Amino acid sequence: MYIPLLIEDFLDEVSNIQSPHALIEYIEDNFDKIDDPLKENLEVAQKLQDFRNYILEMKRLPENRIRKRMGYLPGMIKRFKKMYLVYKVEQEELKGPKTPIKYVKGVGPKRAQKFLKLGVETVDDLLNFFPRDYEDKRKIIPIPLLRENDKVVTTGILSGVEKIKKGNLSIVSAVLSDGMYQILLKWFNQDYMEQIIKTLLKKRVYVFGVVKKGFYGAFEIHNPEIDIINSTQREIFPIYPLTEGLKQNTIRKIVKENLHNIYNYEERMPEDLITKRELLDIHQAYTGMHFPRSMYHGKMARFRLAYEEILYLQLAFLLSKKENEKIGGISKKFEGRISSKLLKSLSFKLTNAQMKAYKEIQEDLRSDKPMNRLLQGDVGSGKTIVSELALLDNYEAGFQSAVMVPTSILAIQNFKKIFEHFTKFGIKVALLIGATSNSEKERIKQRLKDGDIDVVVGTHTLIQEDVHFKKLGLVVIDEQHRFGVEQRKELISKGKLVDTLFMTATPIPRTLSLSIYGDLDVSVIDEMPKGRKPVKTFVVHQSKIDEVYKFVISEVEEGGQAYIVYPLIEESEKLSVKSALSMYEMLTKEYFSEIPTGLIHGKMNDAEKDEIMYKFASGEIKILISTSVIEVGIDVPQATVIVIENAERFGLAQLHQLRGRVGRGNRQSYCYLTVGNVSRETLERLNFFASTNNGFKISEYDLKLRGPGEFLGVKQHGLPEFKVADIVNDVDIVMMAREDANMIVENSEKYKDLIDHVKNLYSERLRLLDVG
Ligand code: ADP
Ligand code: MG
Repeated sequence: MYIPLLIEDFLDEVSNIQSPHALIEYIEDNFDKIDDPLKENLEVAQKLQDFRNYILEMKRLPENRIRKRMGYLPGMIKRFKKMYLVYKVEQEELKGPKTPIKYVKGVGPKRAQKFLKLGVETVDDLLNFFPRDYEDKRKIIPIPLLRENDKVVTTGILSGVEKIKKGNLSIVSAVLSDGMYQILLKWFNQDYMEQIIKTLLKKRVYVFGVVKKGFYGAFEIHNPEIDIINSTQREIFPIYPLTEGLKQNTIRKIVKENLHNIYNYEERMPEDLITKRELLDIHQAYTGMHFPRSMYHGKMARFRLAYEEILYLQLAFLLSKKENEKIGGISKKFEGRISSKLLKSLSFKLTNAQMKAYKEIQEDLRSDKPMNRLLQGDVGSGKTIVSELALLDNYEAGFQSAVMVPTSILAIQNFKKIFEHFTKFGIKVALLIGATSNSEKERIKQRLKDGDIDVVVGTHTLIQEDVHFKKLGLVVIDEQHRFGVEQRKELISKGKLVDTLFMTATPIPRTLSLSIYGDLDVSVIDEMPKGRKPVKTFVVHQSKIDEVYKFVISEVEEGGQAYIVYPLIEESEKLSVKSALSMYEMLTKEYFSEIPTGLIHGKMNDAEKDEIMYKFASGEIKILISTSVIEVGIDVPQATVIVIENAERFGLAQLHQLRGRVGRGNRQSYCYLTVGNVSRETLERLNFFASTNNGFKISEYDLKLRGPGEFLGVKQHGLPEFKVADIVNDVDIVMMAREDANMIVENSEKYKDLIDHVKNLYSERLRLLDVG
């Protein structure tokens, strides 16, 4: 007894064998096991036979000819696959791609309504409505070789049907037997199966389903599909997403009957790329997405279409970049006189990574192309100082600059730092946030317009319509992922040919950043300032909270400061989450009565927040109880402990940001995550977080857990909406496509059609991108 071999499995096995002896042995043992519906094609059967002989003949050949034959083998296998494991449907009379679906074969107005729910309105939509998975019914496994949980087709003769009732449940069961071995088939609450089985008794049938272990340990197949022999086609079937009133088989039939409309599509890929990347042609690809002849076909089809999608996006990025470069920027003249003075006055030296990033920025500022640079660096890696240096160079060149940050606390903090660093050079700095008084706002706006303010720091307030600059030269957007695409564009459009520096602490894998920020140049600060000690992180059950608070007190006594963070501001009855407000009252009474403790949360006004932050930064307050308002950017290097309560309520990225509030000085810092009774998965997630300080690893983990949409916030990033490609997992394709896109842009004359196609496809995006 053996499991039948499909041709593609056979070929894959053969490709893995290196030595001629092993190969001959494999062929002798396995060739007869090949049982593939494709063998019914005589040409295929003949080619297989030839292939077998070609190998077996090696038994009688001299060494050098054997080596030669072995050398030819991979090519033969590849050609065999391309010839026989792939196909495309025949061309018939076409319905145009925009034809409403109700006019195609098998649909009609009623079904068209249902297709609409699946987003399918036209023939074009139907062809691009891809299966979510496939059912491989080509391989027929003998009953004794079935394994638990396999989804299989098996075969045998039906005998003995019975129906029993168990409470609400009715079970129809039947025995499937191959003469020697048997297996039980069961249908739950499908009484009509009894009749169907009766008509099939004593007949040979195909059974398709998942193998389960029954009550007494014997295998059973639950709710299988069943077919008399011949009527079940041994094929790979697509599994489409469904909607109410549209059955899987209906959709399959409709797609199959209309698939020939893929001849509406002309080949979009240039011949040389098809050859270089060994792509299926467009018609083979669409056929293979819906009705693959082999798994090889399906895989190659997906590859072709994913490659295409990713290539278009990369092309769009590069085209928009090029467009920007054509518009040109201002080549700024500066020597770095002021920035080097600031550098000398600092108590630390820049890390090599900071220096490198700064050099790259300087080069951008000097170049006659506009800067569009993303500065990536983990929390605490020191992005702010790099941006300050750029602000100084921009000032020296005679331009104004704007720094936009997501929260007013952060704006105030950054303003103070910049004020302290810059005013000694005679640079005029202003702060513009929601809480700025109206009269003050008016004054600042007037001065910006007159060119009387050199650097303005602010929140969203900066993008209001009536904010104008005299000579805006540089825009810095900190924690840029907190802003929407539109908001970022708006600030940038306040100047002409502005240089832009985006900063983010969300480190993401390079391929992903190519798919999201493919139009930006990226600098990475991949090195922490010297002397930093990794924060020690502990996951603690709430019942041990006493000890955590005691630890906080002892840290404060030794000169440290602490944050205690809560997920919500007010007691919510439903969630019974501790709130910062009520905890503040309790903690100051019970634990921290001797220690100056402050409270900060989002509902306070900016002046109140500022006062508290000021007191915390200056050390007047030792413990700060807070909501997640302190999540990003806050920089108080003396803080050495952060306690995050109900940590399970925060995402990993958020936790990483919060933890980044400590470990900013030279002292050992600590992060406590307190949790209630949480699931094992949650605990695993938090333990993983506790095990590493590496933001890159954390975001990779987070990305896997949540997928790119949630991880990045689809709206904010305008993540590409791919039908086939997967920007997280198609790493190799992204790299390939980027390389090819570069080549295409460099030879734009030759690839004019392709480029026009992309410009059409991404017209919206390209328009959005070329701000300047
Ligand atoms: P982030 O990258 O998270 O925005 P910051 O720019 O706030 O980090 O910097 C974190 C802290 O590290 C700040 O207190 C900053 O002054 C300090 N810092 C920055 N660069 C260095 C360096 N090269 N050596 C020592 N400390 C540094
Ligand atoms: Mg920062």
